[in-house]
Parts: sequence; structure tokens; C-alpha cells
Amino acid sequence: MQTTLVIVKPDGVQRRLAGRILVRFEEKGLQIAGAKMMTIPLATAQKHYKPHEAKPFYPGLVKYMTSSPVLVVALRGKNAIAVVRKMMGATFGSKAEPGTIRGDFAISDGYNLIHGSDSEEAAAFELGLFFQPGEVQTYDMADTPWVYDTSSDLR
Ligand code: ATP
Ligand code: MG
Repeated sequence: MQTTLVIVKPDGVQRRLAGRILVRFEEKGLQIAGAKMMTIPLATAQKHYKPHEAKPFYPGLVKYMTSSPVLVVALRGKNAIAVVRKMMGATFGSKAEPGTIRGDFAISDGYNLIHGSDSEEAAAFELGLFFQPGEVQTYDMADTPWVYDTSSDLR
């Protein structure tokens, strides 16, 4: 089981797509382990996108991410990091495959609706950046035997 960090970015919230984006992950079988609305503080956005610090789009990216509230979500499930990245689609909306979130709802390069952690290290760092200890819940889901085939060792 992995836990990954998803952010419905300011354009996703403003375009009233937060619910539609979240429901895709629920339908897939991922568990909502934590969720909060927030306006990302400047310092947090800078830390979150530090790997892109030297890129020309970095100042605009930080401005965009702090411009309006976001929905920050911790999602848990089997291979959650890769599953979420695949469901998000390619970075640029115009290049993302239909059937992915960006492919279905975004056309912009920068305003691409959603962030997802891209590695275990990034997920651990980002979850710690956006959630306080105890805010990400650990709990059982009633439908786990049906979602994960607990009748065998295949899950
Ligand atoms: P994210 O990190 O937000 O999940 P990603 O991993 O698909 O997205 P990155 O390469 O990490 O893409 O870029 C981080 C974000 O910076 C992108 O999601 C996008 O919002 C913005 N961005 C990346 N490249 C460009 C660009 N060339 N022009 C404008 N914005 C960009
Ligand atoms: Mg990234």
C-alpha cells in the first residue's frame, strides 16, 4: 500500500471540477486518507516545487499555485503513486491522452488541474509538507474484500 499526495489546483477548484476529479480516484478503488481546502502559503509552494526552482516557468507556477484555494488530498491504495500519475495524464493538457483527467478536462500547459507525487520520496516529503501528524487517517474500508480480492494472495 502506498499513500500519495494529490492537489486539485486552483483552476480545478475554480472550474468546479474538484468533485469530478476526486470521484475518479474513489471509483478506481483508492481510499481518501486525508483532505483539506487551503490557500497554499508562498513558502509551502516554493518548497513543494523546489525541484523546478531553476526553470523559467517556476515563478509563474508558484504564483498560480498560491493564487486561489486548492483541495489537498492524501490517497491510499496499491501502487497509488503510479496509478494516480497515470490517471492524471501527461503534463500539458493538449498532449494528455483522452481518458485521463488532464486529457479530458485541460488544454493548457500550466493550468493542468492536478498535481500528483511522482515517487515514494516525493510522496513522503509532500505529505509531510501539507498534512500535520494525525491528519492523514488510517482506517478500514468496508468494501476491501471486493476491491482487492482478499480471497487469495493475489491482492
Ligand atoms: P505536477 O508536478 O504538478 O504533478 P507534472 O509532474 O506533470 O505536474 P512537472 O514537470 O513536475 O509536471 O511540472 C510541474 C508543473 O509546472 C506542471 O504541472 C505545470 O503546472 C507547470 N509547468 C511545467 N512545465 C511548464 C511549462 N513549460 N510551461 C508552463 N507551466 C509548466
Ligand atoms: Mg511534477
